[in-house]
Amino acid sequence: MFVRNEKEIQIIAGPCSVESEKQLFITACSLQKQGVHILRGGIWKPRSRAHHFEGVGEPGLKWMQQVRQKLGMKVTTEVCTSRQVELALKYDIDMLWIGARTTVNPFIMQELADILKGTNVPVMLKNPVCPDLELWTGAVERLLDNEVKLFSLIHRGFSVLDAAPYRNAPYMEIALKMKERFPFLPLLCDSSHICGKRDLLRDISIQALDSGMDGLFIESHSCPNEALSDAAQQLTPEDFGKMLVQMDVCVQ
Ligand code: PEP
Ligand code: MN
Repeated sequence: MFVRNEKEIQIIAGPCSVESEKQLFITACSLQKQGVHILRGGIWKPRSRAHHFEGVGEPGLKWMQQVRQKLGMKVTTEVCTSRQVELALKYDIDMLWIGARTTVNPFIMQELADILKGTNVPVMLKNPVCPDLELWTGAVERLLDNEVKLFSLIHRGFSVLDAAPYRNAPYMEIALKMKERFPFLPLLCDSSHICGKRDLLRDISIQALDSGMDGLFIESHSCPNEALSDAAQQLTPEDFGKMLVQMDVCVQ
Protein backbone atom coordinates (compact mmCIF):
# COMPACT_ATOMS: atom_id res chain seq x y z
CA MET A 1 0.00 0.00 0.00
CA PHE A 2 1.26 3.50 -0.86
CA VAL A 3 0.71 6.40 1.51
CA ARG A 4 1.29 10.15 1.18
CA ASN A 5 0.47 12.62 3.94
CA GLU A 6 -1.41 9.85 5.74
CA LYS A 7 -3.66 9.27 2.73
CA GLU A 8 -3.63 5.93 0.96
CA ILE A 9 -2.94 6.41 -2.74
CA GLN A 10 -3.34 4.01 -5.61
CA ILE A 11 -0.36 3.43 -7.88
CA ILE A 12 -0.51 1.58 -11.17
CA ALA A 13 2.63 1.36 -13.29
CA GLY A 14 4.04 -0.56 -16.20
CA PRO A 15 5.17 -0.24 -19.79
CA CYS A 16 3.29 1.76 -22.38
CA SER A 17 3.30 -1.38 -24.55
CA VAL A 18 3.82 -5.00 -23.72
CA GLU A 19 6.65 -5.80 -26.15
CA SER A 20 8.07 -9.19 -25.24
CA GLU A 21 7.84 -11.77 -22.47
CA LYS A 22 11.31 -10.77 -21.25
CA GLN A 23 10.62 -7.02 -21.23
CA LEU A 24 7.35 -7.58 -19.35
CA PHE A 25 8.85 -9.86 -16.70
CA ILE A 26 11.94 -7.73 -16.06
CA THR A 27 9.83 -4.57 -15.77
CA ALA A 28 7.22 -6.28 -13.58
CA CYS A 29 9.81 -7.75 -11.17
CA SER A 30 11.57 -4.39 -10.82
CA LEU A 31 8.31 -2.55 -10.25
CA GLN A 32 7.26 -5.09 -7.66
CA LYS A 33 10.49 -4.30 -5.78
CA GLN A 34 9.33 -0.66 -5.68
CA GLY A 35 6.08 -1.75 -4.04
CA VAL A 36 3.87 -1.74 -7.15
CA HIS A 37 1.28 -4.51 -7.26
CA ILE A 38 -0.88 -3.46 -10.20
CA LEU A 39 0.93 -3.68 -13.55
CA ARG A 40 -0.29 -1.80 -16.62
CA GLY A 41 0.67 -2.76 -20.18
CA GLY A 42 -0.84 -1.98 -23.57
CA ILE A 43 -1.63 -5.04 -25.70
CA TRP A 44 -3.49 -3.20 -28.48
CA LYS A 45 -2.05 0.27 -29.00
CA PRO A 46 -4.23 3.03 -30.45
CA ARG A 47 -1.54 4.86 -32.46
CA SER A 48 -2.37 8.21 -34.02
CA ARG A 49 -0.29 7.44 -37.11
CA ALA A 50 -0.34 4.35 -39.26
CA HIS A 51 2.76 2.14 -39.61
CA HIS A 52 3.77 2.56 -35.97
CA PHE A 53 3.97 -0.30 -33.47
CA GLU A 54 0.36 -1.32 -32.73
CA GLY A 55 0.95 -3.81 -29.94
CA VAL A 56 1.67 -7.53 -29.80
CA GLY A 57 -1.97 -8.60 -29.43
CA GLU A 58 -3.08 -11.94 -28.00
CA PRO A 59 0.37 -13.45 -27.20
CA GLY A 60 0.93 -10.53 -24.83
CA LEU A 61 -2.18 -11.50 -22.86
CA LYS A 62 -0.57 -14.86 -22.16
CA TRP A 63 2.56 -13.11 -20.79
CA MET A 64 0.38 -10.92 -18.58
CA GLN A 65 -1.44 -13.98 -17.33
CA GLN A 66 1.94 -15.52 -16.45
CA VAL A 67 3.07 -12.38 -14.59
CA ARG A 68 -0.13 -12.63 -12.63
CA GLN A 69 0.42 -16.30 -11.82
CA LYS A 70 4.17 -16.19 -11.16
CA LEU A 71 4.55 -12.82 -9.42
CA GLY A 72 1.10 -12.48 -7.88
CA MET A 73 0.67 -8.99 -9.36
CA LYS A 74 -2.63 -7.71 -10.72
CA VAL A 75 -2.55 -6.82 -14.40
CA THR A 76 -4.47 -4.31 -16.48
CA THR A 77 -4.69 -3.45 -20.17
CA GLU A 78 -6.60 -1.14 -22.49
CA VAL A 79 -9.64 -2.40 -24.36
CA CYS A 80 -11.55 -0.64 -27.08
CA THR A 81 -13.67 -3.31 -28.81
CA SER A 82 -15.97 -6.11 -27.64
CA ARG A 83 -13.53 -8.68 -29.00
CA GLN A 84 -10.70 -7.18 -26.94
CA VAL A 85 -12.85 -7.36 -23.79
CA GLU A 86 -13.61 -11.03 -24.48
CA LEU A 87 -9.95 -11.86 -25.05
CA ALA A 88 -8.75 -9.94 -21.99
CA LEU A 89 -11.25 -11.79 -19.80
CA LYS A 90 -10.28 -15.12 -21.37
CA TYR A 91 -6.70 -14.52 -20.15
CA ASP A 92 -7.78 -13.44 -16.62
CA ILE A 93 -6.73 -9.79 -16.95
CA ASP A 94 -7.73 -8.39 -13.54
CA MET A 95 -8.75 -4.89 -14.57
CA LEU A 96 -9.41 -3.07 -17.84
CA TRP A 97 -9.03 0.53 -18.87
CA ILE A 98 -10.80 2.48 -21.56
CA GLY A 99 -8.55 4.93 -23.39
CA ALA A 100 -8.96 8.55 -24.38
CA ARG A 101 -9.67 7.76 -28.04
CA THR A 102 -12.55 5.53 -26.96
CA THR A 103 -14.18 7.68 -24.28
CA VAL A 104 -14.66 10.27 -26.99
CA ASN A 105 -17.16 8.08 -28.91
CA PRO A 106 -20.61 7.48 -27.36
CA PHE A 107 -21.38 4.56 -29.72
CA ILE A 108 -18.23 2.67 -28.78
CA MET A 109 -18.78 3.53 -25.12
CA GLN A 110 -22.28 2.06 -25.29
CA GLU A 111 -20.97 -1.07 -26.99
CA LEU A 112 -18.33 -1.49 -24.27
CA ALA A 113 -20.85 -0.82 -21.50
CA ASP A 114 -23.06 -3.54 -23.02
CA ILE A 115 -20.33 -6.17 -23.24
CA LEU A 116 -19.03 -5.31 -19.76
CA LYS A 117 -22.47 -5.58 -18.18
CA GLY A 118 -22.53 -8.40 -15.64
CA THR A 119 -18.78 -9.18 -15.92
CA ASN A 120 -17.76 -7.72 -12.55
CA VAL A 121 -14.32 -6.78 -13.93
CA PRO A 122 -13.11 -3.43 -12.52
CA VAL A 123 -12.82 -0.76 -15.20
CA MET A 124 -10.86 2.49 -15.33
CA LEU A 125 -12.05 5.25 -17.60
CA LYS A 126 -9.73 7.86 -19.08
CA ASN A 127 -10.90 11.32 -20.08
CA PRO A 128 -11.72 11.91 -23.75
CA VAL A 129 -8.89 13.43 -25.82
CA CYS A 130 -10.74 16.76 -26.03
CA PRO A 131 -11.47 18.87 -22.94
CA ASP A 132 -15.19 18.02 -22.90
CA LEU A 133 -16.59 17.37 -19.44
CA GLU A 134 -19.96 16.24 -20.80
CA LEU A 135 -18.43 13.57 -23.02
CA TRP A 136 -16.46 12.18 -20.06
CA THR A 137 -19.56 12.35 -17.87
CA GLY A 138 -21.66 10.59 -20.52
CA ALA A 139 -19.14 7.75 -20.71
CA VAL A 140 -19.36 7.29 -16.92
CA GLU A 141 -23.16 7.34 -17.10
CA ARG A 142 -23.23 4.64 -19.79
CA LEU A 143 -21.06 2.37 -17.63
CA LEU A 144 -22.97 3.09 -14.43
CA ASP A 145 -26.33 2.53 -16.15
CA ASN A 146 -25.12 -1.00 -16.97
CA GLU A 147 -23.81 -1.53 -13.44
CA VAL A 148 -20.24 -1.87 -14.68
CA LYS A 149 -17.81 -1.92 -11.76
CA LEU A 150 -15.92 1.37 -12.10
CA PHE A 151 -12.56 1.25 -10.32
CA SER A 152 -11.46 4.81 -11.10
CA LEU A 153 -11.28 7.68 -13.52
CA ILE A 154 -7.92 8.51 -15.08
CA HIS A 155 -6.88 12.01 -16.02
CA ARG A 156 -4.43 11.91 -18.95
CA GLY A 157 -4.59 15.51 -20.12
CA PHE A 158 -6.25 16.99 -23.19
CA SER A 159 -5.23 17.31 -26.79
CA VAL A 160 -5.12 21.03 -27.67
CA LEU A 161 -3.33 23.06 -30.31
CA ASP A 162 -0.57 24.24 -28.01
CA ALA A 163 -0.02 22.11 -24.92
CA ALA A 164 3.66 23.11 -24.53
CA PRO A 165 5.63 22.22 -22.48
CA TYR A 166 3.31 19.25 -22.03
CA ARG A 167 2.18 16.64 -24.52
CA ASN A 168 -1.43 17.02 -23.41
CA ALA A 169 -2.73 20.06 -21.55
CA PRO A 170 -3.17 19.24 -17.82
CA TYR A 171 -6.28 21.42 -17.17
CA MET A 172 -6.47 19.84 -13.71
CA GLU A 173 -9.65 21.81 -12.95
CA ILE A 174 -11.63 19.81 -15.53
CA ALA A 175 -10.57 16.50 -13.98
CA LEU A 176 -11.36 17.83 -10.51
CA LYS A 177 -14.89 18.75 -11.70
CA MET A 178 -15.38 15.04 -12.41
CA LYS A 179 -14.45 14.37 -8.79
CA GLU A 180 -17.21 16.77 -7.75
CA ARG A 181 -19.69 15.03 -10.05
CA PHE A 182 -18.66 11.53 -9.02
CA PRO A 183 -17.20 11.83 -5.52
CA PHE A 184 -17.37 8.06 -5.04
CA LEU A 185 -14.93 7.45 -7.92
CA PRO A 186 -11.19 7.66 -7.25
CA LEU A 187 -9.34 9.88 -9.71
CA LEU A 188 -5.86 8.82 -10.84
CA CYS A 189 -3.43 11.05 -12.70
CA ASP A 190 -1.69 9.63 -15.77
CA SER A 191 1.20 12.05 -15.55
CA SER A 192 3.06 10.15 -18.29
CA HIS A 193 0.60 11.02 -21.05
CA ILE A 194 0.12 14.55 -19.75
CA CYS A 195 3.85 15.27 -19.71
CA GLY A 196 5.23 13.36 -22.67
CA LYS A 197 8.71 13.79 -21.16
CA ARG A 198 10.28 12.19 -18.10
CA ASP A 199 11.62 15.38 -16.54
CA LEU A 200 8.17 16.94 -16.10
CA LEU A 201 6.60 13.94 -14.38
CA ARG A 202 7.42 14.65 -10.77
CA ASP A 203 6.00 18.17 -10.64
CA ILE A 204 2.75 17.24 -12.38
CA SER A 205 2.33 14.22 -10.12
CA ILE A 206 2.85 16.35 -7.01
CA GLN A 207 0.36 18.92 -8.33
CA ALA A 208 -2.18 16.15 -8.96
CA LEU A 209 -1.88 14.62 -5.50
CA ASP A 210 -1.78 18.03 -3.78
CA SER A 211 -5.04 18.92 -5.53
CA GLY A 212 -6.75 15.84 -4.07
CA MET A 213 -6.34 13.22 -6.79
CA ASP A 214 -6.19 9.71 -5.44
CA GLY A 215 -3.26 8.11 -7.20
CA LEU A 216 -0.99 7.80 -10.20
CA PHE A 217 -1.01 5.83 -13.44
CA ILE A 218 2.57 5.81 -14.72
CA GLU A 219 4.46 4.35 -17.64
CA SER A 220 7.61 2.48 -16.66
CA HIS A 221 9.88 0.35 -18.85
CA SER A 222 13.03 -1.59 -18.03
CA CYS A 223 14.89 0.17 -20.91
CA PRO A 224 12.87 3.29 -21.71
CA ASN A 225 15.09 4.41 -24.56
CA GLU A 226 14.43 1.17 -26.39
CA ALA A 227 10.65 1.30 -25.88
CA LEU A 228 8.58 0.70 -29.02
CA SER A 229 6.11 3.42 -28.00
CA ASP A 230 6.27 6.55 -25.85
CA ALA A 231 10.01 6.20 -25.14
CA ALA A 232 10.51 9.80 -23.98
CA GLN A 233 7.95 9.65 -21.17
CA GLN A 234 8.78 6.27 -19.63
CA LEU A 235 10.83 5.92 -16.44
CA THR A 236 12.90 2.96 -15.32
CA PRO A 237 11.27 1.24 -12.32
CA GLU A 238 14.22 2.40 -10.19
CA ASP A 239 13.80 6.05 -11.23
CA PHE A 240 10.09 5.72 -10.58
CA GLY A 241 10.90 4.47 -7.07
CA LYS A 242 13.18 7.47 -6.54
CA MET A 243 10.48 9.83 -7.78
CA LEU A 244 8.01 8.40 -5.25
CA VAL A 245 10.48 9.04 -2.43
CA GLN A 246 10.99 12.64 -3.63
CA MET A 247 7.20 13.04 -3.60
CA ASP A 248 6.96 11.78 0.01
CA VAL A 249 5.08 8.70 -1.10
CA CYS A 250 6.01 5.72 1.06
CA VAL A 251 5.26 2.03 0.90
CA GLN A 252 3.55 0.58 3.99
C1 PEP B 1 -2.00 4.38 -22.79
O1 PEP B 1 -2.23 4.54 -21.58
O2 PEP B 1 -1.14 3.59 -23.20
C2 PEP B 1 -2.70 5.20 -23.80
C3 PEP B 1 -2.72 4.88 -25.08
O3 PEP B 1 -3.25 6.27 -23.27
P1 PEP B 1 -4.30 7.38 -23.79
O4 PEP B 1 -5.57 6.65 -24.08
O5 PEP B 1 -4.35 8.24 -22.59
O6 PEP B 1 -3.68 8.04 -24.98
MN1 MN C 1 1.75 5.37 -23.80
